[in-house]
Amino acid sequence: MKVWLPYTQMHTAPPPLEIVATQGVHLILANGHRLTDSVASWWTACHGYNHPHILQAIQQQSVQMAHVMMGGLLHPQAHQLAQRLLQLTDHHFASVFYSESGSTAIEIAMKMALQYWMHQKNTQKTQFLCFEHGYHGDTFYAMSVCDPKEGMHHLFHSVLPVQYCKPLPITDVLLERLDTWLAQHSSQIAALIIEPLVQGAGGMKMHTSTVLKKVCTLAKKHHLLVIMDEIFTGFYRTGQLFAHTQESIPDILCLSKALTGGTLPLATTLANHRIYNAFLSEHEEHALMHGTTFMGNALACSAANASLDLFERAPYTLHVRRIAEHLDHALSPLTQVPGVKAVRVLGAIGVVQLARPLSSQEHQWVTDAFVKQGIWNRPLGDIIYTTPALNIDAAPLQAITEAMGNVVTQWSQQIYTKECKQYDYL
Ligand SMILES: *Cc1c(COP(=O)(O)O)cnc(C)c1O
Repeated sequence: MKVWLPYTQMHTAPPPLEIVATQGVHLILANGHRLTDSVASWWTACHGYNHPHILQAIQQQSVQMAHVMMGGLLHPQAHQLAQRLLQLTDHHFASVFYSESGSTAIEIAMKMALQYWMHQKNTQKTQFLCFEHGYHGDTFYAMSVCDPKEGMHHLFHSVLPVQYCKPLPITDVLLERLDTWLAQHSSQIAALIIEPLVQGAGGMKMHTSTVLKKVCTLAKKHHLLVIMDEIFTGFYRTGQLFAHTQESIPDILCLSKALTGGTLPLATTLANHRIYNAFLSEHEEHALMHGTTFMGNALACSAANASLDLFERAPYTLHVRRIAEHLDHALSPLTQVPGVKAVRVLGAIGVVQLARPLSSQEHQWVTDAFVKQGIWNRPLGDIIYTTPALNIDAAPLQAITEAMGNVVTQWSQQIYTKECKQYDYL
Protein backbone atom coordinates (compact mmCIF):
# COMPACT_ATOMS: atom_id res chain seq x y z
CA MET A 1 0.00 0.00 0.00
CA LYS A 2 1.32 3.41 -0.98
CA VAL A 3 0.03 6.81 -0.10
CA TRP A 4 0.48 9.11 -3.09
CA LEU A 5 1.88 12.34 -1.65
CA PRO A 6 1.12 15.88 -2.85
CA TYR A 7 3.60 17.61 -5.18
CA THR A 8 6.03 14.75 -4.64
CA GLN A 9 8.05 12.82 -7.19
CA MET A 10 7.34 9.45 -5.63
CA HIS A 11 10.18 7.80 -7.53
CA THR A 12 12.98 9.85 -6.01
CA ALA A 13 11.64 11.50 -2.88
CA PRO A 14 12.85 10.09 0.43
CA PRO A 15 10.07 8.58 2.54
CA PRO A 16 8.08 11.18 4.49
CA LEU A 17 8.61 11.57 8.23
CA GLU A 18 6.17 9.48 10.18
CA ILE A 19 4.27 11.57 12.70
CA VAL A 20 2.41 9.68 15.39
CA ALA A 21 1.20 12.56 17.53
CA THR A 22 1.13 16.33 17.89
CA GLN A 23 1.43 18.45 21.00
CA GLY A 24 1.52 22.22 21.41
CA VAL A 25 3.80 23.44 18.63
CA HIS A 26 5.45 20.03 18.25
CA LEU A 27 5.24 17.10 15.89
CA ILE A 28 6.08 13.78 17.57
CA LEU A 29 7.93 11.29 15.37
CA ALA A 30 7.55 7.53 15.46
CA ASN A 31 11.06 7.27 16.98
CA GLY A 32 10.02 9.51 19.87
CA HIS A 33 11.88 12.62 18.68
CA ARG A 34 9.94 15.82 18.36
CA LEU A 35 10.13 18.68 15.90
CA THR A 36 8.97 22.25 16.42
CA ASP A 37 6.54 23.02 13.63
CA SER A 38 7.54 26.39 12.16
CA VAL A 39 4.75 26.43 9.57
CA ALA A 40 1.79 25.26 11.70
CA SER A 41 0.82 22.54 9.21
CA TRP A 42 0.31 24.74 6.17
CA TRP A 43 -0.78 27.71 8.33
CA THR A 44 -3.72 25.98 9.96
CA ALA A 45 -2.75 25.15 13.56
CA CYS A 46 -3.05 28.75 14.76
CA HIS A 47 -3.58 27.88 18.45
CA GLY A 48 -0.98 25.11 18.43
CA TYR A 49 -1.88 21.43 18.22
CA ASN A 50 -4.32 19.55 20.45
CA HIS A 51 -5.78 22.61 22.07
CA PRO A 52 -7.94 21.17 24.88
CA HIS A 53 -10.82 23.57 24.23
CA ILE A 54 -11.13 22.54 20.57
CA LEU A 55 -10.65 18.84 21.34
CA GLN A 56 -13.33 18.97 23.98
CA ALA A 57 -15.76 20.67 21.59
CA ILE A 58 -15.14 18.00 18.95
CA GLN A 59 -15.55 15.21 21.50
CA GLN A 60 -18.82 16.60 22.81
CA GLN A 61 -20.12 17.16 19.30
CA SER A 62 -19.14 13.62 18.26
CA VAL A 63 -21.45 12.18 20.91
CA GLN A 64 -24.28 14.46 19.77
CA MET A 65 -23.93 14.16 15.98
CA ALA A 66 -20.95 13.93 13.62
CA HIS A 67 -22.61 14.87 10.39
CA VAL A 68 -25.89 15.31 8.58
CA MET A 69 -26.51 16.25 4.98
CA MET A 70 -27.23 19.92 4.43
CA GLY A 71 -29.85 19.41 1.73
CA GLY A 72 -33.03 20.29 3.62
CA LEU A 73 -31.33 19.95 7.04
CA LEU A 74 -29.39 22.27 9.29
CA HIS A 75 -27.75 21.89 12.70
CA PRO A 76 -26.97 24.37 15.50
CA GLN A 77 -23.19 24.33 15.00
CA ALA A 78 -23.46 25.45 11.36
CA HIS A 79 -26.06 28.02 12.28
CA GLN A 80 -24.04 29.42 15.17
CA LEU A 81 -20.79 29.53 13.20
CA ALA A 82 -22.45 31.41 10.33
CA GLN A 83 -23.90 33.95 12.75
CA ARG A 84 -20.55 34.47 14.42
CA LEU A 85 -18.68 34.89 11.13
CA LEU A 86 -21.23 37.46 9.93
CA GLN A 87 -20.88 39.32 13.20
CA LEU A 88 -17.07 39.23 13.10
CA THR A 89 -17.23 40.79 9.64
CA ASP A 90 -19.51 43.58 10.91
CA HIS A 91 -22.59 42.33 9.03
CA HIS A 92 -21.19 43.36 5.67
CA PHE A 93 -22.10 39.89 4.47
CA ALA A 94 -25.51 38.29 4.28
CA SER A 95 -24.70 34.60 4.05
CA VAL A 96 -22.20 31.84 4.68
CA PHE A 97 -21.85 28.92 2.28
CA TYR A 98 -19.97 25.90 3.62
CA SER A 99 -17.52 23.55 1.93
CA GLU A 100 -14.54 21.38 2.85
CA SER A 101 -11.45 23.01 1.39
CA GLY A 102 -10.05 26.35 0.34
CA SER A 103 -10.08 25.33 -3.32
CA THR A 104 -13.80 24.58 -3.19
CA ALA A 105 -14.50 27.82 -1.35
CA ILE A 106 -12.88 29.57 -4.34
CA GLU A 107 -14.85 27.50 -6.86
CA ILE A 108 -18.04 28.51 -5.06
CA ALA A 109 -17.02 32.19 -4.99
CA MET A 110 -16.39 32.08 -8.75
CA LYS A 111 -19.68 30.30 -9.36
CA MET A 112 -21.51 32.92 -7.27
CA ALA A 113 -19.93 35.72 -9.30
CA LEU A 114 -20.80 34.09 -12.63
CA GLN A 115 -24.35 33.32 -11.59
CA TYR A 116 -24.76 36.83 -10.17
CA TRP A 117 -24.18 38.35 -13.61
CA MET A 118 -26.43 35.77 -15.28
CA HIS A 119 -29.19 36.93 -12.95
CA GLN A 120 -28.50 40.50 -14.12
CA LYS A 121 -29.06 39.21 -17.67
CA ASN A 122 -25.44 40.03 -18.44
CA THR A 123 -24.04 37.22 -20.60
CA GLN A 124 -20.72 38.94 -21.30
CA LYS A 125 -19.16 38.87 -17.88
CA THR A 126 -17.74 35.34 -17.86
CA GLN A 127 -14.04 35.84 -17.11
CA PHE A 128 -11.93 36.75 -14.09
CA LEU A 129 -9.12 39.15 -13.36
CA CYS A 130 -6.37 37.76 -11.15
CA PHE A 131 -2.88 38.84 -10.16
CA GLU A 132 0.65 37.63 -10.78
CA HIS A 133 2.05 35.53 -7.91
CA GLY A 134 -1.49 34.71 -6.85
CA TYR A 135 -2.49 31.27 -5.59
CA HIS A 136 -6.10 30.20 -5.07
CA GLY A 137 -6.12 26.41 -5.01
CA ASP A 138 -5.66 23.24 -7.00
CA THR A 139 -9.08 22.47 -8.49
CA PHE A 140 -9.59 23.47 -12.11
CA TYR A 141 -11.33 26.83 -11.94
CA ALA A 142 -9.19 27.79 -8.95
CA MET A 143 -6.09 26.83 -10.97
CA SER A 144 -7.22 29.13 -13.76
CA VAL A 145 -6.84 32.19 -11.49
CA CYS A 146 -3.41 31.22 -10.12
CA ASP A 147 -0.30 32.80 -11.63
CA PRO A 148 -0.09 30.86 -14.91
CA LYS A 149 3.69 31.03 -15.22
CA GLU A 150 4.91 30.81 -11.66
CA GLY A 151 2.17 28.64 -10.33
CA MET A 152 2.35 24.94 -9.88
CA HIS A 153 -0.15 24.43 -12.68
CA HIS A 154 1.53 25.41 -15.96
CA LEU A 155 1.21 21.78 -17.08
CA PHE A 156 -2.54 22.28 -17.38
CA HIS A 157 -2.29 25.55 -19.24
CA SER A 158 -3.86 24.22 -22.43
CA VAL A 159 -7.00 22.91 -20.75
CA LEU A 160 -7.67 25.67 -18.23
CA PRO A 161 -10.24 28.40 -18.81
CA VAL A 162 -8.43 31.55 -19.93
CA GLN A 163 -8.50 34.39 -17.40
CA TYR A 164 -6.67 37.69 -17.24
CA CYS A 165 -3.59 37.74 -15.00
CA LYS A 166 -2.09 41.20 -14.36
CA PRO A 167 0.67 42.61 -12.17
CA LEU A 168 -0.62 43.69 -8.78
CA PRO A 169 -0.81 47.51 -9.10
CA ILE A 170 1.71 48.35 -6.37
CA THR A 171 2.83 51.53 -8.18
CA ASP A 172 0.86 54.43 -9.65
CA VAL A 173 2.06 53.51 -13.14
CA LEU A 174 0.75 49.95 -12.81
CA LEU A 175 -2.49 51.23 -11.34
CA GLU A 176 -3.01 53.60 -14.24
CA ARG A 177 -2.21 50.84 -16.70
CA LEU A 178 -4.75 48.54 -15.06
CA ASP A 179 -7.32 51.33 -15.10
CA THR A 180 -6.79 51.84 -18.85
CA TRP A 181 -6.91 48.12 -19.51
CA LEU A 182 -10.11 47.70 -17.51
CA ALA A 183 -11.76 50.51 -19.45
CA GLN A 184 -11.51 48.23 -22.48
CA HIS A 185 -12.04 44.79 -20.94
CA SER A 186 -14.25 45.12 -17.89
CA SER A 187 -17.38 44.23 -19.84
CA GLN A 188 -16.07 40.64 -20.05
CA ILE A 189 -14.99 40.37 -16.42
CA ALA A 190 -17.25 39.04 -13.70
CA ALA A 191 -14.93 39.63 -10.77
CA LEU A 192 -11.38 40.16 -9.68
CA ILE A 193 -9.85 37.79 -7.17
CA ILE A 194 -7.13 38.82 -4.77
CA GLU A 195 -5.29 37.64 -1.67
CA PRO A 196 -5.31 40.74 0.55
CA LEU A 197 -1.97 41.99 1.97
CA VAL A 198 -0.04 38.75 1.42
CA GLN A 199 0.11 36.44 -1.59
CA GLY A 200 0.85 33.23 0.27
CA ALA A 201 1.82 30.17 -1.75
CA GLY A 202 3.05 32.40 -4.60
CA GLY A 203 6.03 33.42 -2.45
CA MET A 204 4.70 35.37 0.57
CA LYS A 205 4.69 38.63 -1.38
CA MET A 206 3.29 41.54 0.61
CA HIS A 207 1.50 44.74 -0.32
CA THR A 208 -0.04 47.60 1.67
CA SER A 209 -3.66 48.15 2.60
CA THR A 210 -3.50 51.30 0.44
CA VAL A 211 -2.80 49.13 -2.63
CA LEU A 212 -5.65 46.86 -1.64
CA LYS A 213 -7.99 49.81 -1.22
CA LYS A 214 -7.02 51.18 -4.65
CA VAL A 215 -7.70 47.80 -6.27
CA CYS A 216 -11.16 47.79 -4.69
CA THR A 217 -11.84 51.34 -5.85
CA LEU A 218 -10.84 50.37 -9.37
CA ALA A 219 -13.10 47.33 -9.27
CA LYS A 220 -16.03 49.47 -8.24
CA LYS A 221 -15.32 52.03 -10.96
CA HIS A 222 -15.29 49.30 -13.64
CA HIS A 223 -18.21 47.25 -12.26
CA LEU A 224 -16.29 44.15 -11.22
CA LEU A 225 -17.20 42.13 -8.19
CA VAL A 226 -14.38 41.63 -5.69
CA ILE A 227 -13.58 38.17 -4.37
CA MET A 228 -11.12 38.16 -1.49
CA ASP A 229 -9.23 35.03 -0.74
CA GLU A 230 -8.44 35.25 2.98
CA ILE A 231 -7.86 31.52 3.21
CA PHE A 232 -4.29 32.24 4.33
CA THR A 233 -4.58 35.75 5.79
CA GLY A 234 -7.78 35.27 7.80
CA PHE A 235 -7.77 34.86 11.60
CA TYR A 236 -4.94 37.16 12.70
CA ARG A 237 -2.13 35.82 10.50
CA THR A 238 -1.29 39.37 9.37
CA GLY A 239 -1.99 40.89 12.81
CA GLN A 240 -5.66 41.80 12.43
CA LEU A 241 -8.60 39.40 12.50
CA PHE A 242 -8.86 39.84 8.72
CA ALA A 243 -6.52 41.46 6.20
CA HIS A 244 -9.22 43.45 4.42
CA THR A 245 -10.31 46.69 6.08
CA GLN A 246 -13.35 48.95 6.18
CA GLU A 247 -12.04 50.53 3.00
CA SER A 248 -11.53 47.27 1.16
CA ILE A 249 -14.55 45.13 1.85
CA PRO A 250 -15.09 42.47 -0.80
CA ASP A 251 -18.37 41.24 -2.26
CA ILE A 252 -17.35 37.65 -1.61
CA LEU A 253 -14.95 36.43 1.09
CA CYS A 254 -13.31 32.99 1.27
CA LEU A 255 -12.02 31.54 4.54
CA SER A 256 -10.49 28.20 5.45
CA LYS A 257 -7.00 27.16 6.70
CA ALA A 258 -7.09 28.45 10.33
CA LEU A 259 -10.89 28.33 10.53
CA THR A 260 -10.98 25.16 12.65
CA GLY A 261 -7.66 25.82 14.36
CA GLY A 262 -6.05 23.22 12.12
CA THR A 263 -8.18 20.29 13.25
CA LEU A 264 -10.83 19.40 10.68
CA PRO A 265 -11.38 20.41 7.06
CA LEU A 266 -13.82 23.27 6.63
CA ALA A 267 -14.16 26.32 4.41
CA THR A 268 -16.65 29.14 3.99
CA THR A 269 -17.65 31.50 1.20
CA LEU A 270 -19.37 34.64 2.52
CA ALA A 271 -21.50 36.72 0.14
CA ASN A 272 -22.69 40.28 0.71
CA HIS A 273 -26.31 41.36 0.53
CA ARG A 274 -26.05 42.45 -3.10
CA ILE A 275 -24.86 39.00 -4.20
CA TYR A 276 -27.16 37.04 -1.93
CA ASN A 277 -30.25 39.05 -2.84
CA ALA A 278 -29.58 38.55 -6.54
CA PHE A 279 -30.26 34.83 -6.05
CA LEU A 280 -33.66 35.39 -4.42
CA SER A 281 -36.31 34.95 -7.08
CA GLU A 282 -39.36 33.01 -8.21
CA HIS A 283 -37.16 31.01 -10.56
CA GLU A 284 -35.93 27.70 -9.15
CA GLU A 285 -32.87 27.83 -11.38
CA HIS A 286 -31.78 31.08 -9.78
CA ALA A 287 -30.75 29.09 -6.70
CA LEU A 288 -27.01 28.75 -6.14
CA MET A 289 -26.15 25.60 -8.06
CA HIS A 290 -23.74 24.05 -5.64
CA GLY A 291 -23.72 21.58 -2.77
CA THR A 292 -21.25 18.99 -1.59
CA THR A 293 -21.84 15.90 0.51
CA PHE A 294 -19.86 16.88 3.56
CA MET A 295 -20.53 20.61 3.52
CA GLY A 296 -21.05 22.12 6.96
CA ASN A 297 -19.84 18.99 8.75
CA ALA A 298 -20.98 19.27 12.36
CA LEU A 299 -17.67 18.18 13.90
CA ALA A 300 -15.78 20.70 11.79
CA CYS A 301 -18.25 23.48 12.63
CA SER A 302 -17.94 22.69 16.35
CA ALA A 303 -14.15 22.91 16.03
CA ALA A 304 -14.48 26.28 14.26
CA ASN A 305 -16.83 27.58 16.96
CA ALA A 306 -14.33 26.50 19.61
CA SER A 307 -11.51 28.17 17.69
CA LEU A 308 -13.53 31.41 17.60
CA ASP A 309 -13.99 31.12 21.40
CA LEU A 310 -10.22 31.07 21.74
CA PHE A 311 -9.84 34.16 19.57
CA GLU A 312 -12.39 35.90 21.81
CA ARG A 313 -10.62 34.91 25.00
CA ALA A 314 -7.05 35.95 24.31
CA PRO A 315 -5.44 39.07 22.83
CA TYR A 316 -4.31 37.61 19.51
CA THR A 317 -3.44 41.00 18.03
CA LEU A 318 -0.94 41.38 20.86
CA HIS A 319 0.37 37.81 20.43
CA VAL A 320 0.98 38.46 16.76
CA ARG A 321 2.63 41.81 17.39
CA ARG A 322 5.06 40.09 19.73
CA ILE A 323 5.83 37.46 17.08
CA ALA A 324 6.30 40.16 14.43
CA GLU A 325 8.74 42.04 16.66
CA HIS A 326 10.78 38.93 17.24
CA LEU A 327 10.77 37.94 13.57
CA ASP A 328 11.84 41.43 12.56
CA HIS A 329 14.64 41.53 15.08
CA ALA A 330 15.88 37.98 14.42
CA LEU A 331 15.56 37.78 10.62
CA SER A 332 16.52 41.30 9.50
CA PRO A 333 20.29 40.73 9.99
CA LEU A 334 20.09 37.93 7.38
CA THR A 335 19.88 40.56 4.64
CA GLN A 336 23.69 40.78 5.09
CA VAL A 337 24.18 37.13 4.12
CA PRO A 338 25.35 36.65 0.51
CA GLY A 339 22.56 35.10 -1.54
CA VAL A 340 19.77 36.64 0.53
CA LYS A 341 17.70 38.98 -1.61
CA ALA A 342 15.25 40.28 0.98
CA VAL A 343 13.77 39.73 4.41
CA ARG A 344 10.14 40.63 5.05
CA VAL A 345 7.84 40.33 8.00
CA LEU A 346 4.14 40.94 8.38
CA GLY A 347 2.28 39.75 11.45
CA ALA A 348 3.18 36.13 12.17
CA ILE A 349 4.83 35.68 8.77
CA GLY A 350 8.61 35.86 8.49
CA VAL A 351 10.22 35.44 5.09
CA VAL A 352 13.81 35.16 3.88
CA GLN A 353 13.90 35.45 0.10
CA LEU A 354 16.94 33.96 -1.61
CA ALA A 355 18.65 35.16 -4.78
CA ARG A 356 17.17 32.28 -6.77
CA PRO A 357 14.68 29.42 -6.39
CA LEU A 358 16.00 26.29 -4.70
CA SER A 359 16.45 23.17 -6.78
CA SER A 360 14.63 20.04 -5.61
CA GLN A 361 17.91 18.69 -4.15
CA GLU A 362 18.45 21.94 -2.27
CA HIS A 363 14.84 21.83 -1.12
CA GLN A 364 15.55 18.46 0.48
CA TRP A 365 18.90 19.68 1.81
CA VAL A 366 17.22 22.65 3.51
CA THR A 367 14.42 20.51 4.95
CA ASP A 368 16.99 18.03 6.32
CA ALA A 369 19.13 20.83 7.77
CA PHE A 370 16.08 22.08 9.68
CA VAL A 371 15.18 18.61 10.92
CA LYS A 372 18.73 18.20 12.28
CA GLN A 373 18.04 21.27 14.41
CA GLY A 374 14.70 19.95 15.61
CA ILE A 375 12.59 22.17 13.37
CA TRP A 376 9.97 21.29 10.77
CA ASN A 377 10.18 23.72 7.85
CA ARG A 378 9.75 23.45 4.10
CA PRO A 379 11.04 26.09 1.73
CA LEU A 380 8.76 27.41 -1.02
CA GLY A 381 10.42 28.29 -4.34
CA ASP A 382 12.94 30.99 -3.50
CA ILE A 383 11.84 31.58 0.08
CA ILE A 384 12.49 30.11 3.48
CA TYR A 385 9.72 31.25 5.78
CA THR A 386 7.98 30.69 9.08
CA THR A 387 4.27 30.97 9.92
CA PRO A 388 4.17 29.62 13.47
CA ALA A 389 1.21 29.05 15.77
CA LEU A 390 -0.07 32.48 16.80
CA ASN A 391 0.28 31.69 20.51
CA ILE A 392 3.78 30.21 20.28
CA ASP A 393 6.03 30.79 23.31
CA ALA A 394 9.23 32.81 23.12
CA ALA A 395 11.58 29.79 23.39
CA PRO A 396 10.30 27.72 20.44
CA LEU A 397 9.97 30.90 18.36
CA GLN A 398 13.60 31.70 19.15
CA ALA A 399 14.56 28.14 18.16
CA ILE A 400 12.80 28.58 14.82
CA THR A 401 14.48 31.86 13.89
CA GLU A 402 17.88 30.59 15.09
CA ALA A 403 17.52 27.56 12.84
CA MET A 404 16.45 29.79 9.94
CA GLY A 405 19.58 31.87 10.45
CA ASN A 406 21.77 28.78 10.59
CA VAL A 407 20.25 27.13 7.53
CA VAL A 408 20.36 30.29 5.41
CA THR A 409 24.00 30.89 6.42
CA GLN A 410 24.94 27.27 5.69
CA TRP A 411 23.21 27.38 2.31
CA SER A 412 25.01 30.63 1.52
CA GLN A 413 28.46 29.32 2.50
CA GLN A 414 28.21 25.75 1.26
CA ILE A 415 26.22 26.27 -1.93
CA TYR A 416 25.56 29.84 -3.01
CA THR A 417 29.00 31.45 -2.53
CA LYS A 418 30.72 28.47 -4.15
CA GLU A 419 28.57 28.63 -7.24
CA CYS A 420 29.23 32.38 -7.50
CA LYS A 421 32.99 31.75 -7.31
CA GLN A 422 32.63 29.16 -10.03
CA TYR A 423 31.03 31.74 -12.30
CA ASP A 424 33.74 34.29 -11.42
CA TYR A 425 36.38 31.75 -12.38
CA LEU A 426 34.77 31.10 -15.74
C1 LIG B 1 -4.28 27.08 0.77
C2 LIG B 1 -4.92 28.14 -0.03
C3 LIG B 1 -5.95 27.86 -0.94
C4 LIG B 1 -6.43 26.46 -1.19
O1 LIG B 1 -6.93 25.86 -0.05
P1 LIG B 1 -7.01 24.25 0.01
O2 LIG B 1 -7.66 23.97 1.32
O3 LIG B 1 -5.59 23.77 -0.04
O4 LIG B 1 -7.79 23.78 -1.14
C5 LIG B 1 -6.50 28.90 -1.62
N1 LIG B 1 -6.10 30.16 -1.44
C6 LIG B 1 -5.12 30.48 -0.56
C7 LIG B 1 -4.71 31.90 -0.39
C8 LIG B 1 -4.49 29.47 0.16
O5 LIG B 1 -3.50 29.78 0.99
